[in-house]
Amino acid sequence: MEHIKKYDACPVCEATQLELHLDVKDWMITKEVFTIQKCTSCGFHFTNPIPSEDAIGAYYKSEDYVSHSSTNKGLVNKLYNFVRTITLSKKVSLIRAYAKGNSILDIGSGTGHFLNACKQNGLDVQGLEPDNDARAFAKDNFDVDLEPLDNLLAIESDSKDVITMWHVLEHVYHLKRDIGQIIRVLKQDGVLFIAVPNMNSYDAKVYKEYWAAYDVPRHLYHFQEDTIKQLFSEFNMVCIDVLPMKFDAYYVSMLSEKYKGGSILRAFFNGWLSNMKSESNGYSSQIYIFKKK
Ligand SMILES: [Zn+2]
Repeated sequence: MEHIKKYDACPVCEATQLELHLDVKDWMITKEVFTIQKCTSCGFHFTNPIPSEDAIGAYYKSEDYVSHSSTNKGLVNKLYNFVRTITLSKKVSLIRAYAKGNSILDIGSGTGHFLNACKQNGLDVQGLEPDNDARAFAKDNFDVDLEPLDNLLAIESDSKDVITMWHVLEHVYHLKRDIGQIIRVLKQDGVLFIAVPNMNSYDAKVYKEYWAAYDVPRHLYHFQEDTIKQLFSEFNMVCIDVLPMKFDAYYVSMLSEKYKGGSILRAFFNGWLSNMKSESNGYSSQIYIFKKK
């Protein structure tokens, strides 16, 4: 079929034995159903088939897609914007705690809020963002110049102290190629921060096909702690820390309840419970910090 990309093999290990994990609806925009498959060889989970790269744009066109806009409509978006202000300063402190230098590359910068906070903290910033509207927003509101994603290939090797991808890796089409490029650009003693949802979290298990962080078909991959560590170890990267994103359990539970027609009280309860159960399941979303071996 046209505008469809189907994997015949696992995008991580290339094994061809794939099994069904779950059928999930695109709750946010099209209501189309997509399948999440599991590679029986390495355990990696991914959406298959997916819209081809030239067709995915249509799946991002929504006011609800808050990471690409700054709408203040609705309780969930208001809460999201409030939490963003808090998490921004936490992210900057985190980078200061780990980084050996000032140069930071952020991939998938969205509307540029994070890079703006970095700039105000004295970091030397560069950001890549595929969406034209988001780039214009960053320029108009923060005077931050974001560049198209393809510019990654032109960045000098061994030039960045820090690279960040906040909820971005699950969206990239050329997973291994892009990881290779990121590692090329990162200095030998540089630090890589990757934040992604955790499909092993308690909220994922509770909400199943309603779990908002499956977010098909926008999320091409569905990570858990062991599969992401394994993926990066193939690139000689070692995970030095895994940190929680505790607000995500509440935010994702609220969206999941919305899709389910459930209650906001239950969302808060499940969000709280998810954080309580992190010992066995991990958190709803996690930040993985990688260094070169
Ligand atoms: Zn595999």
